[in-house]
Amino acid sequence: MDRDGKKFRELLEKHHLKKTGQRLDVLNVLFSKKEATSQPTLESLLGQHINRVTLYRILKTFEEKGIIHRIIDLNGTANYAPCSSACTEHEHHDEHIHFNCTACNKLYCLNDIHIPGFTMPAGFKPEMINMVISGTCRNCNKK
Ligand SMILES: [Zn+2]
Ligand SMILES: [Zn+2]
Ligand SMILES: [Zn+2]
Repeated sequence: MDRDGKKFRELLEKHHLKKTGQRLDVLNVLFSKKEATSQPTLESLLGQHINRVTLYRILKTFEEKGIIHRIIDLNGTANYAPCSSACTEHEHHDEHIHFNCTACNKLYCLNDIHIPGFTMPAGFKPEMINMVISGTCRNCNKK
């Protein structure tokens, strides 16, 4: 495929996933961008080779394995971005802020801005924190 093909095959191997062409295609798209990729974008990029149900299953599997994380943007659309190496099959550690640009609609992982731990009231078990800041991004502000 391309020079990253080996990296992605190893990634699938590490997570005991079968190395299918479709899974490799999805990884290729998700890891090739600096920003998160929305579900509709994935569908339009890969729709010719992967039907929606299969794509959905692949994304779900990757999310469960700690390979990618899901972010809901301001429009309520699911976006996906690669996880940090700290994520595992059992626990995600993507406690960073996401930035949704209102001009270009891109969703960025701001990996260096950590979300602090919150002390929950007794009886509450948080599973996922979704913090999205909206505004205009670096690229849009350059223009
Ligand atoms: Zn993660
Ligand atoms: Zn922008
Ligand atoms: Zn992120």
